Amino acid sequence: MKLSKLIIAGLLMSALTACSSEEPAVTEAVNYTKTYEPLTFSNLDIPVNIEVIDGITYANGVLIVNKEIPLPEDYNPEMQPEVIEAYTQMFEDGAAEGLNFELVSGFRSYDYQAELYNNYVSRDGKEAADRYSAEPGHSEHQTGLAIDVGSYDSAVLLQTSFEYTPEFQWMKDVAHEYGFIIRYMKGKEDITGYMYEPWHLRYVGDKATEIYESGLTLEEYFGLN
Ligand SMILES: [Zn+2]
Repeated sequence: MKLSKLIIAGLLMSALTACSSEEPAVTEAVNYTKTYEPLTFSNLDIPVNIEVIDGITYANGVLIVNKEIPLPEDYNPEMQPEVIEAYTQMFEDGAAEGLNFELVSGFRSYDYQAELYNNYVSRDGKEAADRYSAEPGHSEHQTGLAIDVGSYDSAVLLQTSFEYTPEFQWMKDVAHEYGFIIRYMKGKEDITGYMYEPWHLRYVGDKATEIYESGLTLEEYFGLN
């Protein structure tokens, strides 16, 4: 909790210094809430409201977890029903187009992520592992809002070349209609901290289309980078 506050305070400080001289409006505190004007590179014309509730960070109601912003160790929401509904529908609609999706990965607990991450670090070293795997408490898969998808017909699983499958070529243009965004975009590793992951979708619900159309990462969209 303290860590989250410090990180957010730090983010806000840098955001505010880089921003207009106008005093930001502070909304009612929950655990910790701060509103600031969007940065000039954000496409939002509304203020970004950052809240930390029980150790979980939200930007305008969208849960945020990344290399800097953690989740509590005991946060175990499992797969969220609206996400299951969304990808099931997307896979069904894809099947009607002759596509064959499979779910490769969904919810992961803190402990399971710790196991995975430690294995990757022993195998590839920390620097390499950090490009594709999250430290425990920093994985979007712990939110129950992220999925990894694959093409059932292809041996290409969790590889960048998934982008060349018919499944991805269809999905990239429609995922937002189901509430998903491609979270770790091509050429944005310096912002997201992750290599391009065409298979990793993050559910953001009805904000997906606006975020998709902005062409920005979640960090850029909310001015968090
Ligand atoms: Zn993933």
